[in-house]
Amino acid sequence: MANPTDCDLEAYFREELLKKYALKKYVLLPKEQYNNNIADLTATDTSAKKTPHEYYLLKKYEVLKCGDVFESIRRRNANEDPIYFATLEDTYDIIKRAHIATGHGGRDKMVKELTKNYANITHDTISIYKSLCIECQRKRPTTKGTVV
Ligand SMILES: [Zn+2]
Repeated sequence: MANPTDCDLEAYFREELLKKYALKKYVLLPKEQYNNNIADLTATDTSAKKTPHEYYLLKKYEVLKCGDVFESIRRRNANEDPIYFATLEDTYDIIKRAHIATGHGGRDKMVKELTKNYANITHDTISIYKSLCIECQRKRPTTKGTVV
C-alpha cells in the first residue's frame, strides 16, 4: 500500500480479523451480534424456559447498564472489575487509542493495557495492528547499517 490512509488501514485490519476469527464468535463480535446478545440477555430474565443459546450467553456474558446504555461484559464474580467486549467495528479505534496512549508501545505493553479492560482483544489482533502502524514501521531498525 502506498501512503495508505487511516481508513484504508482500518479496512485492511478488519479484513484480517474477519479472515482469522471467522469461526471464533467469542473473539469476533460484529456490532449487530453484540446488540443481539444484549437483547437476548436482557430478555432472558423474564422467560421461564431457557434455550441452549440463552444458556450459552448467560454462561459467558453479563449485561451492564451505564445510564441508558447497555454494555456486554464478561461474566464475573462479585467485586471483580468489569471486562468489556469490543465490537469488530470498535476494535481498531480501541487498539489505536491504547497504542498512542502507551507512546507507540510494543505488543506486550499493549496486551497488558488492553486485556485489563477487554475480554476479546487477542495478542494476534494487537500484532496485526502493530504491523500496520506507519510510525512503528519507520522506527523499526533496518538490517542495513546507516552510512554516516
Ligand atoms: Zn506505532
